[in-house]
Amino acid sequence: MSTEAPRRVPGSGPAAVRVFTTVLTDGPVSRVDVARLTGLSPAAVTKAVRPLLDAGYLVEGELEDRPASVGRPANPLEVDADREFFVGIKATADELVGVVTDLRAVVRRAKHVRLRDHDVDHVVDAIAKLTKDLLSTDRAFQRRTTGLGLAIAGDVDHHAGVARYSPFLDWQNVPIARLVRKATGLETFVENDVKALTRAEQWFGHGVGSHSFALVTIGAGIGCGLVADGQLVEGAHDVAGELGHVTVDLNGAECMCGGRGCVETVASERAIVEHLRSATGEPELTLTAALARARTGDAATQRVFREAGRAIGVALATVANLVGPERIVVSGEGLPTYELVEEQIREEFGRQAYGAARCDVITREMPFEEWARGAAAVAIGQLLAAERL
Ligand SMILES: [Zn+2]
Repeated sequence: MSTEAPRRVPGSGPAAVRVFTTVLTDGPVSRVDVARLTGLSPAAVTKAVRPLLDAGYLVEGELEDRPASVGRPANPLEVDADREFFVGIKATADELVGVVTDLRAVVRRAKHVRLRDHDVDHVVDAIAKLTKDLLSTDRAFQRRTTGLGLAIAGDVDHHAGVARYSPFLDWQNVPIARLVRKATGLETFVENDVKALTRAEQWFGHGVGSHSFALVTIGAGIGCGLVADGQLVEGAHDVAGELGHVTVDLNGAECMCGGRGCVETVASERAIVEHLRSATGEPELTLTAALARARTGDAATQRVFREAGRAIGVALATVANLVGPERIVVSGEGLPTYELVEEQIREEFGRQAYGAARCDVITREMPFEEWARGAAAVAIGQLLAAERL
């Protein structure tokens, strides 16, 4: 795919990155405010802004209306969202969800394709075809897209571009970034899906303006992305935020991780279904049917959901006690059950978390397009990575 975009934001160092990131998340913003927010001197801001303006990444907004006698008018700076586009793909066990976003991570196209099997070659081919289909919808996408982000569940070595272990795709040590780069011609970055989503929230969602926040996803697994002191917590071995494997019951059931009494043994979708079936004596009971029954006041099913809620509440409190986030965003495909478990979550959280009243717990629906957008945000982040300047 041809390109007219440089492969990184032009600039001379970390100052350019800080200026660009500030305008990206807070823009339109005046140079004076950029200096205040970044702690850079006005001269350093001016120096950093020039090449970004020249390359078209930043544009100057409308002049603010003020009398000429007050001095030089302030031109607010904005990111030119159409300067570059990004592909983001989330791979689940059943499908690929792909998006094209602009530089502000606004989704401009989205497409789902079913994944027939998990063979690596098959998945890489499907990613390449999906990418081609998405980009072919607009000539500007074809000309100005250089980066692709891929988000998958499991243990991902982001720096090496390797999926070390993906439970849903049944992959081990797959150098997926290199394979996708070869198949698409785009610079490719792979990231754990929850971390990718956290990145998007940090820059473009509920994390904007928060120095410390956590994103907790509930559903097939219980995941957690952490931002502490403005930085995504990566962990020394790319493992951090394995909230699903925090112990809530020392004598509890065995977990697939080899541990015992993990949050996921009580509150993952599979655990909830198993407990519902044994509580009702109905081996075929589905989650949807159980949800409907719990909503009409059925005590046996309600009890199972309540226990899941308590485990999630303890998990959230663990995050609050360890990291002290300003805000915890709860999301994931398990959110439809949230109304049934919210009371227990808040009760346990209030009991177990230090300073619970100061930590805001909010819920946010995130369909799979949002996860794909998170993958695109990883590619946008690479454009901004200081070490690449
Ligand atoms: Zn576990």
